[in-house]
Amino acid sequence: MYSQNPVFIPGPTNIPEVIRKACDMPTLDHRSPAFARMFKPAVAGVRRVLKMAEGEVIILPSTGTGGWEAAITNTLSPGDTVLAARFGMFSHRWIDMCQRHGLNVQIIETPWGQGAPLGAIEAALRADTGGTIKAVLATHNETATGVRSDIAGIRRAMDAAGHGAMLMVDGVSSIGSMPFDMAAWRVDIAVAGSQKGFMLPAGLAILGVSPKALSAMETATLPRTFFDFRDMLRTYAAGGYPYTPAVGLIAGLARAIEVLEDEGLDAVYARHHRLAEGVRRAVAAWGMKPCAASPELYSDTVTAVVVPEGCNGTDLVKLAAEKYGVAFGVGLGEVAGKVFRIGHLGMLTDVMVLSGLATAEMCMADLGWNVRLGSGVAAAQDYYRSSAGAMALAAE
Ligand SMILES: *Cc1c(COP(=O)(O)O)cnc(C)c1O
Repeated sequence: MYSQNPVFIPGPTNIPEVIRKACDMPTLDHRSPAFARMFKPAVAGVRRVLKMAEGEVIILPSTGTGGWEAAITNTLSPGDTVLAARFGMFSHRWIDMCQRHGLNVQIIETPWGQGAPLGAIEAALRADTGGTIKAVLATHNETATGVRSDIAGIRRAMDAAGHGAMLMVDGVSSIGSMPFDMAAWRVDIAVAGSQKGFMLPAGLAILGVSPKALSAMETATLPRTFFDFRDMLRTYAAGGYPYTPAVGLIAGLARAIEVLEDEGLDAVYARHHRLAEGVRRAVAAWGMKPCAASPELYSDTVTAVVVPEGCNGTDLVKLAAEKYGVAFGVGLGEVAGKVFRIGHLGMLTDVMVLSGLATAEMCMADLGWNVRLGSGVAAAQDYYRSSAGAMALAAE
């Protein structure tokens, strides 16, 4: 059956019709001036979304994972030390990638459900008097646990320690949905992907690169070819690529940024916060809790819901897909089975989120969980009614 049910996974997200149409275009020569005209606004738009004051935007035909690889291989050399906290599947995978590239990862093990531990990061940097740590890696929004870390706080910790490492941030599930400020936080590399906050199909890794990271690029010796920023920047100057870019996705990216800016980035962030808060009210009404340990860690793009003892979150996700044709996220790694995840980022409205909450409740009832139908939906309805503003999305 063909269905237009929205998805409630934390990426890929629902693709608005206007963005889908923008991706659908006839073949365009990527070495032509027409491509350059299309490409430049996409790059300029990314610069605004990331709040970059300087540096370069790099858009690779890849995904967020490729963005991580590009970040490290362009700026680091074999044997270099990087500092990273591990508190979920995505922070773990980035660490694993660094190790496979022959980097020495100084890992701060942190309980899942917590965020980047600022005190421990500062202590590790203070202890590194010889300056061996070349980069601090931070997962802004840990998509596995629904935890947002304090990137400004990490920058303050680095400053307090007087340490000159680069700051690399995985913003794959935050950028375009939650406030991000590359300039204020002095982020050296920010990594995003096309299929989350940018509401596009998967296929682009989107990076902001600071002047400091660009100078590290000149001496870094990790092998890279396809992802080499130097090749990219040389051809960028002429408005092109060293190879064939994903032209349709780049057209879509320019349109996605118009969609975000028509609503207003601050309004987009406020909408994500409202939608997330409604989900959290529903979770509380179900008698459950988010995996994120405390409110300041709550993500506005995904909630990992801890399921009651004796229940299995993966059962709910399977049933929702099979019986109702609705996608939620399963628990990953340490929290497999213990949580299910509700993605609430990208093109979503109150109405859409309510349908997801209602579906989750139907599944809970089907599975015999002790949850009253309508309880979470009513809590979210009350919150959405009391906090609703004008529907900025309606005009499209
Ligand atoms: C989705 C995600 C990734 C991986 O991105 P892909 O585009 O699937 O390669 C990395 N980090 C975080 C935080 C994510 O949410």
